Amino acid sequence: MLLLFYAKLSHIASMVELVDTIDSKSVVHWMCWFKSSWRYLNINYNFMDSKTIDANLRIKIFPAPILREKSIDIDSFDQALHNVIAKMESIMHHLSGAGIAANQVGLNKQIALVNVIYDNIENSLDDLQFKNYTDNLLVIINPKIDWYSNETAEESEGCLSFPGIYALVKRPVKVIVSYNDQWGDRKVIKANNLLARCLQHEIDHLNGRLFIDYLNPVKRRMLTAKLLKKNS
Ligand SMILES: [Zn+2]
Repeated sequence: MLLLFYAKLSHIASMVELVDTIDSKSVVHWMCWFKSSWRYLNINYNFMDSKTIDANLRIKIFPAPILREKSIDIDSFDQALHNVIAKMESIMHHLSGAGIAANQVGLNKQIALVNVIYDNIENSLDDLQFKNYTDNLLVIINPKIDWYSNETAEESEGCLSFPGIYALVKRPVKVIVSYNDQWGDRKVIKANNLLARCLQHEIDHLNGRLFIDYLNPVKRRMLTAKLLKKNS
């Protein structure tokens, strides 16, 4: 899940607790800090009733083995798929994620969601396709990155499977991604900046790759040790 989020959360220490109390009814006020824009957003999330969330779909925290599995293609675009997407969206919003991949909630399926602010969508190379969307949510199924730019940028990333952990990750600035939407139609999206970064992060998840894989071994060991200690 992508939790790719660029966030500085005063409640970050409670992230692990949130994973286990996702069915609680409460409102969390989080101040999210999007590094790419240096702007502050106040986001309030209402926790949905627990009945709307499948008890089996919970965020998997590193080093859960499924995070390293390559996900399987989707070939049925039916109501069951739509139900899973709705559950993933709920979990993503609960945890203030900018994205989520299915294996992050225990399903090794080629499903990912990306949810970034409009400013970044407007930065896409070709935003025509986005105009069909009524909100920021982008559902990508069986995605493939067809093209990367040579230009790269280094930005801070986090991940819902690594609560409280952030690191600078270098990635291509622009990508072209082909994917199926939730109804099975094959589409192509051109994206740059934060949207491109989110897409890469989530598609990496579907291939068992994590953002820490881009770090040097020393930094990677340091961050994973920090996470394991925190959750011990
Ligand atoms: Zn992630």
